Amino acid sequence: MHADKPMFRQYLELKGQVPDALLMLRMGDFYELFFEDAKVAAAALDLTLTARMKDSPEPVPMAGVPHHAARSYITSLVDQGHKVAIAEQVEDPRLAKGLVRRAITRIVTPGVGLDPEDLAPREACWLAGLCSHQHRWGLALMDASTGDLRVSDLGGLEEALEELARAEVREVLVPETLEGLDGGLPDVRISRVDPGWFEPEQGRKDLAERLGVADLGAFGCDGLGPALGAAAALVAYAEQATHTELKHLRGLRTHQLTGFMELDRATRRNLEILRPLQGQGRKGTLLGLMDRTTTSGGARLLREWLTWPLLDLQVIRARLDAVQDLVEGRHERADVRARLAGVADIERIAGKLAQGTAGPRDLVALRRSVEALPAAFAAARGLRALQRLVPEDLCPDVAAQIAHWLVDDPPLQISEGGLIRDGVDPELDELNQLVRGGRGTLAQLEAREREATSIGSLKVRYNRVFGYFIEVTRANLHKVPEHYLRKQTLSACERYITPELKELEERVLGADERRKALEHERYVELRERLAPAVPRLQAIALAVSELDVYASLAELAVDGRYVRPQVDDTGDLELVAARHPVVERQDLGESFVPNDLAMRPRDRRLIILTGPNMSGKSTAMRQVACIALMAQVGSFVPADSARIGLCDRIFTRVGASDDLASGRSTFMVEMSETANILHHATERSLVLLDEIGRGTSTYDGLAIAWAVAEDLHDRIRARTLFATHYHELLELAETRPGVANLSVAVSEWGERILFLRRLKEGGASRSYGIQCGRLAGLPAPVVERAKKLLVRLEKHASDHPTPQLALFGSRRTTAAVAPPDRLREELAAIDPDTLAPRDALALLYRLKDVAADES
Ligand code: ATP
Repeated sequence: MHADKPMFRQYLELKGQVPDALLMLRMGDFYELFFEDAKVAAAALDLTLTARMKDSPEPVPMAGVPHHAARSYITSLVDQGHKVAIAEQVEDPRLAKGLVRRAITRIVTPGVGLDPEDLAPREACWLAGLCSHQHRWGLALMDASTGDLRVSDLGGLEEALEELARAEVREVLVPETLEGLDGGLPDVRISRVDPGWFEPEQGRKDLAERLGVADLGAFGCDGLGPALGAAAALVAYAEQATHTELKHLRGLRTHQLTGFMELDRATRRNLEILRPLQGQGRKGTLLGLMDRTTTSGGARLLREWLTWPLLDLQVIRARLDAVQDLVEGRHERADVRARLAGVADIERIAGKLAQGTAGPRDLVALRRSVEALPAAFAAARGLRALQRLVPEDLCPDVAAQIAHWLVDDPPLQISEGGLIRDGVDPELDELNQLVRGGRGTLAQLEAREREATSIGSLKVRYNRVFGYFIEVTRANLHKVPEHYLRKQTLSACERYITPELKELEERVLGADERRKALEHERYVELRERLAPAVPRLQAIALAVSELDVYASLAELAVDGRYVRPQVDDTGDLELVAARHPVVERQDLGESFVPNDLAMRPRDRRLIILTGPNMSGKSTAMRQVACIALMAQVGSFVPADSARIGLCDRIFTRVGASDDLASGRSTFMVEMSETANILHHATERSLVLLDEIGRGTSTYDGLAIAWAVAEDLHDRIRARTLFATHYHELLELAETRPGVANLSVAVSEWGERILFLRRLKEGGASRSYGIQCGRLAGLPAPVVERAKKLLVRLEKHASDHPTPQLALFGSRRTTAAVAPPDRLREELAAIDPDTLAPRDALALLYRLKDVAADES
């Protein structure tokens, strides 16, 4: 029955075009939502839910927002994961016969269509496309605000989910037929379209045509298939949503994941790279610490670098060279930073320019930024490693053109007038004269009338309904001359018009209206004239962002007394006086103690780290990972010296956390993260394991920890830091050549322990768990009882070594270290590096004999 009403017929027809979006229909000064949409929006935005056709048996739920505030409501809906379609009136309501025609002019989703002003300035806004075709998987990422479009080949769905999480995409577009995404991407909107959108060959053709190339070889993505389908689907989706052509696509970037250090979700979380483990914002994160950029583009680029650390030594070294130049060039650094501080987001303004949405203030900001660039780059030009960055073309013509056309301080809206400088357009100058002259004449008229009527408070005023009028207060009404025509009576005054005033009004208002229309026209013309410069502006924007990141990293390095890391392709890792970049700046109540650490593939690849609770094991391990990561980003690192063999992946299994959302217990999370490590780590990886095997029985846990450590050492051979309270694992160092023991030093002081925070060779002798419990505030009787029980348990264990423990060897916590046997002595005397192959074989036979004797 609603369909009977023309308005609802129109509504339902529009809604049919966007069934998965909340439809906002422009009606007068409001955007209205109806039916289910109204209920959803009312709940999401805290709006009052009203109804249309209240008296009918089926009232229609309705909710609305005022049009001038719509932007913030739309943003809020989209931030909550909704898709919003906006239907505007597409004909002048005054001219419409019957119902005003309406059409959907814009669709806004989390990944596309938002006004750039509503996006987080320091983060990219990624829309992803994902599909598979003939067992190959492809991913495309697009940031429509900057025109950044990238494509990657993928190994499978699992890798895709990791990558989507890593990029922190806001929305992912997939073919309707794709399964397996559910639950894998919380907080990401999943939009489904016809699989035809993703057809790879068609995608390849569409992209080539759009980018104006014969084939996509120029972008290095010849071999890609499904990723190209995904990229083409994204472009089509974004253009459909925004109803504009994406003229600012910067080409296609092949973003092969094999070129970047892999960081899985757990590791990114544990290392607190972009987000803190607890709470919101960036406080306590590596990004929060490292980001000293002054431009939004620079901040986005640094975030990107931290998201995708490099594996290419040459590029890493080139970045480090640039940072070093700015570390050493103190004046240049200060100069670059000061100049860049005034530079606006050229990249996003260029995007708006291409899409025809750049406002007058954007253009003035663009002009000022471009004007600041020669000085900013002049400082860089003098530094060897930065010369390559300086763009040849700094677009002075763009700045000049804007300066010539636009006033220095234009209004926000194009429609308000007052944008275009005098001298640009003679016709406009003439109209301006008229308006200004008319206003002067109005002031004269007011003065004249005051004098003639001797009403000192008489005013000539203006409003949109009546135009210009003369206002006289009630007390002076008796002085009003006859020829004044009364127009309106208010409680405190009367309003009049005169023929002279109306004539003047026509002149002024007419000229003003024509002036505004002409200014609008000229402004659009300026924007169109500037649009071809978009690719040049994008090139500058990239250079500015990169320069900003280098200056930021240099500032950080100087501020934190960091050192340039030596990154090489050995499997070594050597840190001297290393610190945890974030923890060292926290208010610890003690000064941070730097530590040395050396890892080598041959004889120190697995380090068993022991020490009491709270002594600093996790911090020591995390600082190694943070330093490796920072080095591969191209940053200096918090240490006195650092040499880092490239890490292809960093894995961490740190701390306990229940994954309640997926219904997995702490132990299951730990085990699946460990399984992931064992399946994917390589000889080039850096693995941090913190207390593997807790959360189950002691022996189960120990057995798992032991087997995991062996596998990492024997098969995978990854550099591994293995923090544990199972002191039994210290024995591994005696039987395996690549294992070393380290512990965090403490000193005992009567009943108390003092954390020295220093790493020393060798294992810890005790756990001090009970002392830590006391420090944490366990009630004194419980602590006393625990101490007694510990003595009893230890005695029991040494009197009755259990079969399980015998398997692993002696129990370090309780028993003394076993006396070295002959086999061990023989082994200790061997120096494998000096052994000829023939001698090695002979030695092996002898050792076998010794072993046979001893058993
Ligand atoms: P647990 O075994 O209980 O997990 P842990 O040995 O891993 O503890 P951390 O969490 O690394 O200990 O460190 C505990 C606290 O010690 C840190 O929060 C920090 O305040 C301090 N700390 C750690 N390392 C250092 C250091 N090198 N210098 C100074 N303080 C440190």
